[in-house]
Amino acid sequence: MSDSHVTAFTQSPPQLGNQYTDDRVLRSYLARTLSPEELAYARPALERLGALAGAELTDMQHAERLLEPALEQWDAWGNRIDRIALTPLWRRAETIAAREGLIALPYEAPLGKHSRVLQFALVHLFTPATDVYACPLAMTDGAARTLTDSGNATLVERALPRLTSRDPDSFWTSGQWMTEAIGGSDVGRAETEARFRPDDGWRLYGRKWFTSAITSQMALTLARPEGNATGGKGLAMFYLETRDAEGRPNRLTVDRLKDKLGTRKLPTGELTLDGTPAIPVGELANGVRAISTVLNVTRLWNAVAAVSYMRRGLALARAYARARVAFGAPLAQKPLHVDTLAALQAEYEAGFHLAFCIAELTGRIECDAASEAQLALHRLLTPIAKLTTARQSVAVLSEVLEAFGGAGYVEDTGLPMLLRDAQVFAIWEGTTNVLALDALRALGPDALGPLLRETGFVLEGLRETTLIALSARIQAALEAAQAWLASHAGRDETRLEAGARRFALTLGRCFAAALLARHAQWSLDHENDRRALAAAARFAQNGLNLIGDPDPASSQLLVDDA
Ligand SMILES: Cc1cc2nc3c(=O)[nH]c(=O)nc-3n(C[C@H](O)[C@H](O)[C@H](O)COP(=O)(O)OP(=O)(O)OC[C@H]3O[C@@H](n4cnc5c(N)ncnc54)[C@H](O)[C@@H]3O)c2cc1C
Repeated sequence: MSDSHVTAFTQSPPQLGNQYTDDRVLRSYLARTLSPEELAYARPALERLGALAGAELTDMQHAERLLEPALEQWDAWGNRIDRIALTPLWRRAETIAAREGLIALPYEAPLGKHSRVLQFALVHLFTPATDVYACPLAMTDGAARTLTDSGNATLVERALPRLTSRDPDSFWTSGQWMTEAIGGSDVGRAETEARFRPDDGWRLYGRKWFTSAITSQMALTLARPEGNATGGKGLAMFYLETRDAEGRPNRLTVDRLKDKLGTRKLPTGELTLDGTPAIPVGELANGVRAISTVLNVTRLWNAVAAVSYMRRGLALARAYARARVAFGAPLAQKPLHVDTLAALQAEYEAGFHLAFCIAELTGRIECDAASEAQLALHRLLTPIAKLTTARQSVAVLSEVLEAFGGAGYVEDTGLPMLLRDAQVFAIWEGTTNVLALDALRALGPDALGPLLRETGFVLEGLRETTLIALSARIQAALEAAQAWLASHAGRDETRLEAGARRFALTLGRCFAAALLARHAQWSLDHENDRRALAAAARFAQNGLNLIGDPDPASSQLLVDDA
């Protein structure tokens, strides 16, 4: 018998269950959006992936916490090979993604316009459990859409069956190489050159500064055909394959893998293209516009991924709050801790409806003949949903870590990784500021007209008193945004640009609140459930109207501080 007097308390860690059946927000949304037949079709895959995400894949994430992809540049005989060894979970994720049709679904379209909803419901379950394997999938989906829309029959025939394959052995992923050292946001400055020789076709020469998932078999990239003008219009979009017929790097070298804050299982490389064979996808100009189809798709993936990370963090924080006792009671019974988590849950629920609204809209545009109003809404809401959910995700996950106290700061809980990964949602596929400016540019001659009409339509059927009051707040905040726009557009470009982020976030939060309110009314009516109502009210309390009009000259004083 031991005579030790050392106390032996150990805290039980938070556990995850089936991530589909546990996610009230996802289940309730699908029950409203899909028909009973569509839901019956979708349920087996959702339950399967929900079970994997809550158990096997999460266990693998913990077991592989310290593993990272490794770049092997040379073989023993001095040949340049640039092979990258991936982590086991990444290889497993690739198989699951292909088999579950995470790319195939919207191209097979088993649920017509709702196929995107099913796809992203699965992506929502898959993403936080697979160490950012969603990144190559997002680019693959973007490439498949771009090639489909391009009408380039040769490339469609060559690549599309592979990108949309459900067979892991023939499934391809695609990279998207835009960013160069000289410019990521200002991509029109790209220096990569495309040279054409009649006997040799097109070849690319240059350096690509951030190329994620460089294990992909193909990529869409930008290069300037010799003699073309400077700027974005002078760039063209090219298709290339990363390996030649013998499996050697296709006249490109992986100079190094980036040493990143997060997304560390995702190999992001710096590349040199030195005569890489490539094929123009379409015209030999306007590449930035051409590749925007990829970005529209990847921004939607980004929004769903940001939301899915919030959901993962909150599932863990709620479980911990039930298990962790402080000052005589579980944290889940401490009013201030409950208040803190409730604010975060409201952010998740609103962000969820915003992201999935873009999935619905995308599905409608792809399957039905889209109206001009739907296209205008899609152009405006895609950057807005991406930037809004990304900022939410970073803020929510920072709070989630604090909700664990010291444990949230300890690496082998797996929690810090959530925050580090989430930080990227606000950077790649367009930073918050760059997307806010995109949103301003996406406003047509009717300015906020399409969004105001859609918001009115979304809010139409509200009957519950709290929701009616919320509806008035949303309308008031949107009117403030409209008034701000009207007072600066065409008059004071400096103020307009300086306020673009606050403007875009106001639109994002207002529209998310409207979508959540509509869902809350449905959930009251059909599920007798008041939780979405509580989330809607709480989300509005977190703040809708961020419009402010600080003097740009004063801002300049602060930044020029030295
Ligand atoms: C992990 C990771 C993976 C990536 N993978 C890929 C990939 O696979 N393919 C790829 O092409 N790229 C990739 N990127 C690159 C990413 O898309 C760029 O880093 C991003 O677009 C920003 O570009 P930049 O780094 O040149 O920053 P900059 O454009 O220099 O931006 C710096 C800052 O200036 C701000 N800014 C820029 N212009 C304006 C303006 N007009 N007004 C106000 N503010 C402005 C930005 O918001 C930002 O805060 C990846 C990045 C990361 C972190």
